[in-house]
Amino acid sequence: MQPMQFELGDRLRLRKQHPCGNFDWEVVRLGADIGLRCEKCGRRVLLPRSEVERRTKQKLPRIAKPEGDPFAEE
Ligand SMILES: [Zn+2]
Repeated sequence: MQPMQFELGDRLRLRKQHPCGNFDWEVVRLGADIGLRCEKCGRRVLLPRSEVERRTKQKLPRIAKPEGDPFAEE
C-alpha cells in the first residue's frame, strides 16, 4: 500500500466523527505529527501520521478560500 501524501490545506474526511458531529478536517501542520483542524468547531488536534492515514476515509477537494468577505461594507 502506498503511503498517503498530505499537504497543508488538504481536506480529509475521517472514519470517525468528532464529538461536534463533523467528519471533515483540514491539514494545518505537517511533520512527524499531522495537525488537523476541525472544519466545524475549529478545534485542533495533533495525530501521528500513521494514525491519520488509518483514520482517513477519503480526501476531499480543496475549497478556494476567498480573502476577506466580499460582502463586507467598507
Ligand atoms: Zn469538531
